[in-house]
Amino acid sequence: MRVLGIEGTAWCASAAVFDDAGGDFFIESDAYEPDSGGIHPREAAEHMGGAIPRVVETALRYAREEYGSDAIDAVAFSQGPGLGPCLRIVGTAARALARTLDVPLVGVNHMVAHLEIGRYRSGFGSPVCLNASGANAHLLGYRDGRYRVLGETMDTGVGNALDKFTRHVGWTHPGGPKIEAHAAEGSYVELPYVVKGMDFSFSGIMSAAKDAYDDGVPVEDVCFSLQEHTFAMLTEVAERALSLTGTDELVLGGGVGQNDRLREMLAGMCADRGASFYAPEPRFLRDNAGMIAQLGARMASVGDTVEVADSAIDPNFRPDQVPVTWRDGDES
Ligand code: ATP
Repeated sequence: MRVLGIEGTAWCASAAVFDDAGGDFFIESDAYEPDSGGIHPREAAEHMGGAIPRVVETALRYAREEYGSDAIDAVAFSQGPGLGPCLRIVGTAARALARTLDVPLVGVNHMVAHLEIGRYRSGFGSPVCLNASGANAHLLGYRDGRYRVLGETMDTGVGNALDKFTRHVGWTHPGGPKIEAHAAEGSYVELPYVVKGMDFSFSGIMSAAKDAYDDGVPVEDVCFSLQEHTFAMLTEVAERALSLTGTDELVLGGGVGQNDRLREMLAGMCADRGASFYAPEPRFLRDNAGMIAQLGARMASVGDTVEVADSAIDPNFRPDQVPVTWRDGDES
């Protein structure tokens, strides 16, 4: 089965071709980079509208040259969660392509795709997943046909929180890589650490970080301490999720997963408890259509497709709303 995947939940317009026989991916992406400030939904949608036709055309050209004229068996698209104006463009493109190519349409939950690409590439059976992305931060575990949310942020996503601090400092988006670079020269200062049960919160730590910067604490120290606090919170809850579920496999998903320090903390925690840890390569951590095409292929292979009339996008699409049709019934 070969699937054309289309991703466009926020900043990344991306199209991919995934061939499940060979496990080959072709991914073409075009990122929206705001001149200043954060992601503006209208500007992101304008970027999406211009970039989606380009990346789709490139992916289709690749598919035709590599596999011939009937290369595509299904079209998968990110149905949510994400920015409504962006999702609507991607949904419209996917519906039109599925009709034109006369193939089934697959609506993919973007956060489940972040998880499944790690599961696929690691070969793990039933891992716990930490999704640490821009707009989200949660722990997922599989039980009785659904990915259950074991713990999650009570306010902003972890990447968005980091980006808010860098906007305050005057750095351009995305902020996460800049925090990582400056943290290399920093030392520890105390910031709030907020874990409540299995949930966590980033808003207080961001306000405290902005205040510390305004009070003259060196920006390198604030960056270092932001990483130490936020990533330790995620690592603590990830460890509890492993303990709670009895699982000894952890996969990481989402753009913040590109951070070396986060991966180091998670790998250390897993090593200490004899668990296995897997982080996909960066192109599969940040938003990308490869993960949409890969999960789309799994869903299409079991007939989990959607009629055009039922394919509305959902900006608040939660991972635990998705019936997991593509996993064997005996996995729990
Ligand atoms: P979602 O998947 O929730 O829709 P998203 O659309 O924002 O999130 P992602 O690509 O998953 O997209 O994540 C982008 C986030 O990753 C941004 O907030 C960015 O600052 C952050 N990020 C990227 N690289 C790093 C890094 N090296 N360290 C920390 N954060 C990073």
